[in-house]
Amino acid sequence: MSIEEWKRNGPKKAVFFDLNGTLIDPEASYEAALAREIRELAARSSAADRSEWEREALAQYRKERQRLTAGPTARRTVEAKALLRRACLAKAVSALPVPRSSAFLLKLDRAIKESLESDPRLYAGTLQALEAIGRGRKIALISNGSRLRLEGRVKRARLEAFFPPARLFTAGAGQRGKPHPDLFQQALETLSLSPSDAMMVGDSRTKDTAGALRVGMDACWFRPGKLSTVTAVRRPGGWLLQAGSLQQLAHVLE
Ligand SMILES: [Mg+2]
Repeated sequence: MSIEEWKRNGPKKAVFFDLNGTLIDPEASYEAALAREIRELAARSSAADRSEWEREALAQYRKERQRLTAGPTARRTVEAKALLRRACLAKAVSALPVPRSSAFLLKLDRAIKESLESDPRLYAGTLQALEAIGRGRKIALISNGSRLRLEGRVKRARLEAFFPPARLFTAGAGQRGKPHPDLFQQALETLSLSPSDAMMVGDSRTKDTAGALRVGMDACWFRPGKLSTVTAVRRPGGWLLQAGSLQQLAHVLE
């Protein structure tokens, strides 16, 4: 089975996206926030070498992250990801003349998390890919969490032009989020589409792709940087594609 066979099913009228981990790059967002917080720490310091803090901290952060994520690993839980970040953060500031206490680290971690929300970063090439995928096709966001939060994030990620309010689907009162069929069906009904007209793109196999396949929609598991070509296999419910970048997906949707 191949991508060519999948293409023979005809073009898609709509593509739905997950936001975090699919359009927004959590790691790049974290690094940008870390850099901002280190700059702020440096600004309050009188140390002679404080102009080097940001560069040094980022280099240490990346090195430690690479060391701790080397080799095959099972899927990380949200808690495991948070622990990993904190370990890398500890390493990042270890060479700086800042307090060594866990209270300081926790405070810094919290400040980074807040800062992260204010300036989310997209995966490279996301805007161009959205432009290509959205040409002659509807695009929308299907996201768990509150509508207010999603609207804010879309705005701060400068994605409003692609996803106006009518193209945002979140679980309202009494509705269940992904992978439950509610949101997928709501999006299809609102945009007058049948499941075969649309596909869902997301980084979560359990929430995004499994949920979409359950309502009979094709799905694409987004695995940033992990694949160099798009693959497709038939699953009960629909086709499951896998892509390493949105540009790759845009290309096969052409
Ligand atoms: Mg996600």
